Amino acid sequence: MVNIREIYRFDAVENENKEYIIDLLEELLDADHTICTCEQCILDIVAITLNELQPRYRVGILGSIDIDQRNHSEYQDTVVRALQYAVMRVTENPHHSVIFTRRSG
Ligand SMILES: [Zn+2]
Repeated sequence: MVNIREIYRFDAVENENKEYIIDLLEELLDADHTICTCEQCILDIVAITLNELQPRYRVGILGSIDIDQRNHSEYQDTVVRALQYAVMRVTENPHHSVIFTRRSG
């Protein structure tokens, strides 16, 4: 049997949404200091946001697929809404332990 896992670099298949969500989340965390920044909550927020969105995979080594300018703001709005929903869900029902370290500042 051909073992393509050993031949091809599947980590080159990237989810464009994920990088974009992380960028937007960083901006949101700068603006809103009430969001828990422990690893559990941050990863939960990203996972929930990803599940709310249509997948957007591309092959990294072949370069980025250009996002149509006309649709970009619509795409951005969709991601922001999904992110806000995820933050709300995680904030209301966090999976972190009761004792956690809050980000200072
Ligand atoms: Zn947390």
